[in-house]
Amino acid sequence: MATSTTSTGTSGAGDLAGRLTGRVLTAGEDGYDAARGVMLGGTDPHPAVIARPVDDADVAAVVGYARETGQPLAVRSGGHSGAAHSTVDDGIVLDLRDLKRIDIDVDARTAWVESGVTAGEFTAEAAKHGLAVGFGDTGSVGLGGLVTGGGVGYLARKHGLTIDNLIAADVVTADGQVRRVDADTEPELFWAIRGGGGNFGVVTRFQLRLAELPQVYGGMLVLPATAEAVAGFLAAAEEAPDELSSIINVMNCPPMPFVDASVHGSIVIMAVLCWAGDVEQGPAALAPFVGLAEPLADMVGPKAYGELFPPEDPDYHPLAVARTMLLDGVDVDRAKAVLDALESSDAALRAVQLRVLGGAVSRVSPHATAYAHRSSRVMANVAAFYDGPGDKAAKQRWIEETSALLDTGDTGAYVNFLTDEGEDRVRAAYPGATWERLAAAKATYDPENLFRRNQNVPPSRSATG
Ligand SMILES: Cc1cc2nc3c(=O)[nH]c(=O)nc-3n(C[C@H](O)[C@H](O)[C@H](O)COP(=O)(O)OP(=O)(O)OC[C@H]3O[C@@H](n4cnc5c(N)ncnc54)[C@H](O)[C@@H]3O)c2cc1C
Repeated sequence: MATSTTSTGTSGAGDLAGRLTGRVLTAGEDGYDAARGVMLGGTDPHPAVIARPVDDADVAAVVGYARETGQPLAVRSGGHSGAAHSTVDDGIVLDLRDLKRIDIDVDARTAWVESGVTAGEFTAEAAKHGLAVGFGDTGSVGLGGLVTGGGVGYLARKHGLTIDNLIAADVVTADGQVRRVDADTEPELFWAIRGGGGNFGVVTRFQLRLAELPQVYGGMLVLPATAEAVAGFLAAAEEAPDELSSIINVMNCPPMPFVDASVHGSIVIMAVLCWAGDVEQGPAALAPFVGLAEPLADMVGPKAYGELFPPEDPDYHPLAVARTMLLDGVDVDRAKAVLDALESSDAALRAVQLRVLGGAVSRVSPHATAYAHRSSRVMANVAAFYDGPGDKAAKQRWIEETSALLDTGDTGAYVNFLTDEGEDRVRAAYPGATWERLAAAKATYDPENLFRRNQNVPPSRSATG
């Protein structure tokens, strides 16, 4: 058997522990097994080393160590990458989960938050002051990945993407420098980290603009899924004022205790609605949705914004395939075809998720951030669970066929919902001029492509010479 004689030593950690205040974990050590997993099922990662920095100097030390040793580097915040990009076998995982500081300036309605904080953790903290910023639909998603990719959730139409509320950030770039970036300082890097994902460095903290939001009016609404109800739901969501954002899952009904058992397994509309305006006006704003059909469950009411995040099981690691896309809409014919496809599938869970965009998302210029899809009207995710390796290809085929039924010719994609799909799909996330500009920024800030375990934009060759 070969033994390692590289400069990193047999543990894979070399002298890294001596450079860090935070912990450095290798196989066999306490905490290694607990730290090495990610959300995506079907993965069993064994990094050579997991480094858990506690400050910017630690992050810079890990980045420098990766540069010197040439070991692959994965950057992890909440671990929700759909491509398991935040881990790597036999490489270095830069695990930011000990960076947890949150400083809220209540009067200024801004916050500095470190990138190891999750959406749920920050939301709970901000709620103590009646403040909020829009993240996604899930509390355990990490800010590191969510914010650098965009952030599309329940406040999107009212307040924009999370990056539209980003004022500044601290970024450790590939050369080990810690840079404070904002609209005036290093504006190109500030542009790139607003949608360009983890390509440009490790963000250690974000400064976010917060909105006053002591309560929202919303929650889950389950309706029978007819083609008319699906198309009607989307039309109502597009016509609604910006205060109303929604995430609509057309899916087989899980065995939820608040839905009659006779409905479990049948295809339903399971939507979460969020009215971020005057709570008194909530019932009237949601009436067009509730009135589409006799609800199978109606949990809509006044609540804290954070209550829209569902309860979570940390041991949930589904085997899932998915495809993300952008649409111009879903008419009755398309809705009918999609319902037939959902009926025909034997996947334990299959879903078409629809998010109506527009509102504040569409009022930002496509050139202002690296999220270019400002005029796209609907984001869709087609997803299915599979039973094991032997079942994956069939479910992948179903995903592709079902996506084709929805296709309205918008070729874009949202980077944070991509799985491991190759360069063409990364280019779909960053069309045309956005790709060129990101590649040029990459050549400036990461010319050797140290940060490549991500939805990768390689440095442009013309810029690197
Ligand atoms: C259940 C679930 C629900 C989701 N819902 C939504 C949603 O509603 N809206 C939405 O917009 N997205 C959503 N997403 C997608 C999510 O935003 C992305 O998967 C995101 O990348 C996850 O961030 P993370 O920090 O948890 O992931 P990680 O796996 O830790 O990181 C993913 C990638 O982000 C980069 N990265 C992480 N931390 C940093 C950092 N500090 N600095 C620079 N780069 C970094 C790295 O390239 C890393 O590979 C969801 C994902 C899941 C699994």
